[in-house]
Amino acid sequence: MTTPLPHRWRYLAFLTALLAIFLWPLHHFAERYYTQQLAEQNQQTLDLYVANLLGTLRRYEDLPPLLSELPVLRSALENADSEAARNAANAKLAEIRQRTGADVIYLMRPDGLTQAASNWDQPDTFVGRNFAFRPYYKEAVQGKPARFFGLGTTSKRRGYFFANEVRDGERLLGVLVVKVDLEHMEQLWGNTPEQLLVTDSNGVVILSSHDAWRFRASRPLSPATQREVAENIPYPVLNPQPLRISEKDWISLSRELPETGWTVSIYTPHAQVDRPVRSVLLVGGATLLALLLLLALLNISRRHFLERIALEAQAKRQLEIRVLERTEELEGANARLLQEVHDREQAQQELMRAQEEVVQAGKLTALGTMSASISHELNQPLAAIRSYADNARVLLDHQRLDDARGNLEQISALTERMASIIAHLKAYARGARRAPENVALQPAINDALSLVASRRQAMSVELLRDLPDAPLWVQAGETRLRQILANLLSNALDALSEKAPPRRIWLTASQTPDGVTLSLRDNGPGFSEEALAHAREPFFTTKTSAKGLGLGLAICDTLLRALGGRLELGNHPDGGALVQLHLLPGVPGVSPTPQEETRA
Ligand code: ADP
Repeated sequence: MTTPLPHRWRYLAFLTALLAIFLWPLHHFAERYYTQQLAEQNQQTLDLYVANLLGTLRRYEDLPPLLSELPVLRSALENADSEAARNAANAKLAEIRQRTGADVIYLMRPDGLTQAASNWDQPDTFVGRNFAFRPYYKEAVQGKPARFFGLGTTSKRRGYFFANEVRDGERLLGVLVVKVDLEHMEQLWGNTPEQLLVTDSNGVVILSSHDAWRFRASRPLSPATQREVAENIPYPVLNPQPLRISEKDWISLSRELPETGWTVSIYTPHAQVDRPVRSVLLVGGATLLALLLLLALLNISRRHFLERIALEAQAKRQLEIRVLERTEELEGANARLLQEVHDREQAQQELMRAQEEVVQAGKLTALGTMSASISHELNQPLAAIRSYADNARVLLDHQRLDDARGNLEQISALTERMASIIAHLKAYARGARRAPENVALQPAINDALSLVASRRQAMSVELLRDLPDAPLWVQAGETRLRQILANLLSNALDALSEKAPPRRIWLTASQTPDGVTLSLRDNGPGFSEEALAHAREPFFTTKTSAKGLGLGLAICDTLLRALGGRLELGNHPDGGALVQLHLLPGVPGVSPTPQEETRA
């Protein structure tokens, strides 16, 4: 089983392959281009050197035939024994050598002995030496213009020999030889990276700017050639070693010189091409890498863009799904709410029905309570009327008509009040609730006191009032307030009737932050524990059935609460009952309008 290459390595392999695919043809192309450039350059260099070489040789080519015509030289050959003729020839040759730049010019007799030479005065002079063995001599005496490459026998310097016969008609007078030094050619080539070499017709390197290549054989020598070499000794070695130039390391170009049988070659190190090719490859590779990098960056940003779009689309889809879900949930909730509203409406209707039933039942109960209350509430004014009537009768008996009229007026007022109580109780029983009105407290207290005045006086009850002069405005109904106060005063008188004098009632009123508090205290026996717990309940009484119905405090409490006030029952620390009325504040300055009752 093969494990997949890690991501990174795969990229690297891909990159390498891409580089190879791109760089291989580039390498090929660049190499071809630079090789061609080099070849053109080499061609020019080669042409230049060939022209130089040929120019040098041609300069001396025509010299031997011309010189062989000179009388001074011919005379030296014709008069071989004449010292003067030889000296003249020597001088002439030295002069010509000087003028032409040739290496040596010398004149041989037909037997090969040197008769005169340009170096006649040198220690290694050719004069007197025999060069009959040299091929150029052999060829020249046969009448051919001879050429020969070889080492100087004494100088050991490479030279090119041009030889020509000197003839007088049919008679051979001698041979004239011009030797040209070729070694200076190598020096002319200078020290350049490209190397030049000249091989002779044997394929042996005779001139080269590269020392190691000199006198090496570019091809194997045939046995005949080897024999010739051994005979003529053109090279310093008898058996030239093979020349090995690696095709891989060098780029070569050659040109043959037919007139000499030589081949001139130029060799340029392959590095000359390799270097620019390497630069091209580097630039190409770098460009490709930069392009790939750019592509990778573009690809990454494209991928990011696509990913973002996909993410956005996904988010949008999710949002839509959520919206759908939410809509469904909301629709469900809405349906549930509608159902709930429907249920509630039904429940409310049922409740209202039940409430109506309860109200009806309550009304019946209240009616019962009220009818008991009515008899109770009316008993007090009735008792007052009776005592006023009794008094009036006594006054009439005594002919005190004015006093009797006063009593009758009181009776009339009381009946009016009774009618008003009945009207109020009727309204109360019907459930009609009047809104609280602004009522001044002091006049209501006075009215209530007048209701119980005769009884109080009969009982010798001292009244201690501590009320401010300025009216205290409260929220109440005039009749309701008077009714409440009369009830409380009546209870206090009932309580005081149970004890011996002194009998006292205290009435105090004060403004509080919440409204007005009226306190009513007596010095009677005070509330019993049981009375404190149950006094507000209807029909709770500690009194005899003739005296008490147990409705007074119940009605007071109900009326006060309906007015937004509160009734507090308790006992004073010094003994006796302490009843406190808390009433909401009224708007001052509004005169109390008796809307609740109709006075006759
Ligand atoms: P009734 O006066 O018909 O008994 P109330 O509701 O007015 O009915 O009073 C209930 C009871 O509260 C009384 O029977 C009495 O025991 C007690 N009570 C009321 N006022 C006083 C008072 N000033 N002192 C002592 N006890 C009182």
